[in-house]
This record gives sequence, C-alpha cells and structure tokens, in this order.
Amino acid sequence: MPAKAHPNRANGVNLIDTVKTAVFFHAHPDDEALLTAGTMAMLAAEGHRVVLVVATSGERGQADIEPGEELGATRLAELYKSAAALGCARVVNLGYGDSGLAPDGGIAEDRPGDAFIDADTEEAARRLAAILTEEKADLLTIYDPAGGYGHPDHVQVHRVGGRAAEIARTPIVLEATVNRDPLLRALRLAVRFYPQLDIRAFERAYSPGEVITHRVNVRRFARQKRASMAAHASQATGADTRTLGVLLKIPQPLYRLVFGTEWYVRRDAPLGSRLRHPFEIPPKG
Ligand SMILES: [Zn+2]
Repeated sequence: MPAKAHPNRANGVNLIDTVKTAVFFHAHPDDEALLTAGTMAMLAAEGHRVVLVVATSGERGQADIEPGEELGATRLAELYKSAAALGCARVVNLGYGDSGLAPDGGIAEDRPGDAFIDADTEEAARRLAAILTEEKADLLTIYDPAGGYGHPDHVQVHRVGGRAAEIARTPIVLEATVNRDPLLRALRLAVRFYPQLDIRAFERAYSPGEVITHRVNVRRFARQKRASMAAHASQATGADTRTLGVLLKIPQPLYRLVFGTEWYVRRDAPLGSRLRHPFEIPPKG
C-alpha cells in the first residue's frame, strides 16, 4: 500500500492538508495527453498522488511503425515518458488488446482475440477496482458515454471505469471530455491554416458545454501538457491528418486557447455546476 506522506514538491502551488489519490483511466497511450494531462500535472504539483492506468498499449494505433508488438512497446515507452513529464507516481497497463478502428471509424472486424471491447465488463472492472482499492483512490476519471470521439475502446472505458468505481466505492468519478462548443470554434479557425483537417468528426463528439460541471484551468501547466503530447512521437509522425500530429503543429497562442482548460462531467453534481478543481465539493442540487 503506498504511503500517503506529504511530498516536498508541492512547491507553493497550493497548500494542501491531505494528500489525495487520483486515478486517470485511459484507453490508449496518448489519450492522457489530449484529455487530462494538465489536470494530472496540476494535481501532482499540488502534492497529490497521480496514477495513470491504460487498458491497452495502443499497438494498433496509426503510426509509421506497423501495428503489432513493436508498436505496443514503443507506445508504452512513450507513455512512461509522458507520465514522468506530468509527475505521475505510478503507471499501470491492464494489458488488453487494442481493438483498433475500422476505416469508417466503427468496430474493426480483424481485431485481436483479447481486444478490450470484447472483454467481460465485470471482469475488467474488477481488475481496475483492485487498483482503486489498493490505492485508496479518492477520484477516478473515465470518459463520457459516447467515448469522446467514439472509439469503441473509449466507450468501453466509460462502461468498465464506471463499474469499477461502483465496486471500489470510489467517491468521485469524473468523465473527462472536451467542451465541444469552443473546440468547434477553434477548429473552424484552424481549418483555414490546415485545410486537411476534417472537423466533421468533431461535430457530434465529446460533450456540449451545458452538461460540463468542471472547467479546470490548466494554463500554468501548458508546458507539461505539451511535453506529454510530444512524448507520443510515434503518433505525431503518422499520417498528417492524425489528431495529435495536427495539434502539435498548432501555433502556441491557439494551442493555449484550446488547451488552457480541461473539462469534466460529474454526474452526481447538479447540472450547471461550475467547478474549478477535481476535488472541489459540488453545491447541493
Ligand atoms: Zn484512444
């Protein structure tokens, strides 16, 4: 069991009297960079224990390396580099097969036998719950029910993560998402400079602003978030329409606009809550 001693590296960011543990559950290496990296860096800087769990090694992602074991190993190495940049205390890979994506963005027919989407929800949830219990996790992040942009493994993160939190009785569950409204505004601007960017895929992705309960200002951690993204080099060098590759090319001011905030939905907080910190107590609904 990890000791919850107060670390010395809180460094005046925020004085905390209790070290809490936050577990960030993601489908593939690089998902943490896009969705939660700033929050992770912030909590770590405040002195909290930050644990990163991935369901798969992302061995079927789009990259210059052929899909398979070598790509999986490369992506796990990148995940460790990202985790180090963010101040994570522990990284766990549940080791399921990356379900991949069909060319139309749906479920791939040629997926591996141990694909995460074919895993028994209860069995996978129990494995994650064991980590939550061992860590005495105060908070778990999962994805929204749509799985963000809809990757089947991301939808499975919502199901498995939600059930794991029930089993382990984790008090706070946050659905990591993106506020679709400013994202679409920024992407419509970006498309002028990057005409190859297909923004239609984003029009029904993630969550509209009205359901979002948490807007976490992570502007101070833009450097760490950028380092986390840069760590996932295999994904950034794939086809030039890859999201991460495109995002890394966005000029700093626009990057700051889009990535100054991270968004979460807490289902047991009243609709319209405007919380600023993952551990903030929501108002009574
Ligand atoms: Zn993913």
